Amino acid sequence: MDFLRNLLSRTLGLGREKPEKVLDELTLDGVSRFMQSEKCRNVVCIVGAGISTSAGIPDFRSPGTGLYANLQSYNLPYPEAIFEINYFKQHPEPFFALARELYPGQFKPTVCHYFIRLLKEKGLLLRCYTQNIDTLERVAGLDQEDLVEAHGTFFTSHCLGSSCKKQYTLDWMKEKIFSTVTPKCDKCQSLVKPDIVFFGESLPPRFFTLMQSDFQKVDLLIIMGTSLQVQPFASLVSRVPTNTPRLLINKEKTGQSDPFMSLMGLSTGMDFDSEKAYRDVAWLGECDEGCTALADLLGWKNELEELVKKEHSAIDAKSGQAGEAGASPSPPRAGATASLSTPPAKPGSSTQKESDAGSKAE
Ligand SMILES: [Zn+2]
Repeated sequence: MDFLRNLLSRTLGLGREKPEKVLDELTLDGVSRFMQSEKCRNVVCIVGAGISTSAGIPDFRSPGTGLYANLQSYNLPYPEAIFEINYFKQHPEPFFALARELYPGQFKPTVCHYFIRLLKEKGLLLRCYTQNIDTLERVAGLDQEDLVEAHGTFFTSHCLGSSCKKQYTLDWMKEKIFSTVTPKCDKCQSLVKPDIVFFGESLPPRFFTLMQSDFQKVDLLIIMGTSLQVQPFASLVSRVPTNTPRLLINKEKTGQSDPFMSLMGLSTGMDFDSEKAYRDVAWLGECDEGCTALADLLGWKNELEELVKKEHSAIDAKSGQAGEAGASPSPPRAGATASLSTPPAKPGSSTQKESDAGSKAE
């Protein structure tokens, strides 16, 4: 066992006896002091559905959202078929009917999204890895270069014709969705699909290429609004260097060690509470509040509030104009219980090829 541990320690950087403690204290204050030091230059954010819930885009995988229960009218062979690429190619109508039902009334990013934008403006953001397909990171002012949209995005769509692949915009797709016409390519008449990752499709190549370089130079990892249940996204937390602090802002603790790996003395998962804890900090609560608290400690609180106010009124002004022109979709219906904030993943699908240690089993 010792041999194995030493080998893994040397080759993977796992289970080192005395990792350097970078944070002076395992609290949000400790993180904020580190962020203001010279040592913190590259921050990577990992975000999930929890950062969009306050924008009215709930995580449909949460218990009680009732998405699958609402699917009966679509005559699916089984509920998950609606997100399977092969089923979609034969029967696209249920997916688009669902997209119409759940389409957000407006795209208004949250405080948390704008906090990530501030990280960018301060020159600290190396990358934001998102599981969300709601495009709110882009709306908040992050560029494509700042983002890895691991589960794809509704922002663009592509023709499925193998020799065509023409790209379409969100506005084009929105118009098709609301006109109840199944989106067909105007060049070759093939089906057009939003660029979200369905079951049976691989994650974007960008995810795998940038992951290699980003996670070698990250100084601070901030994980927000994700229960880290979906692979390979969940394994990202164990890819950072052994000394890199990890801050979790989430409703509950997650990403803790796999019991089997801990037994072997390998600390790949998050460790907030044990006597060996040296770099992981959990701030439990709503993402917006966590970001506001951190911004406050960093002396950015006013700036963040001003940014949110300014951007939200710009969006309101724009949607007000669109509303007068009759072009905006209906506001979110009270009955809409779930939304497409993240595509699903399930065991055995191609979005789960990797199963690194440190991730929690479903
Ligand atoms: Zn085409």
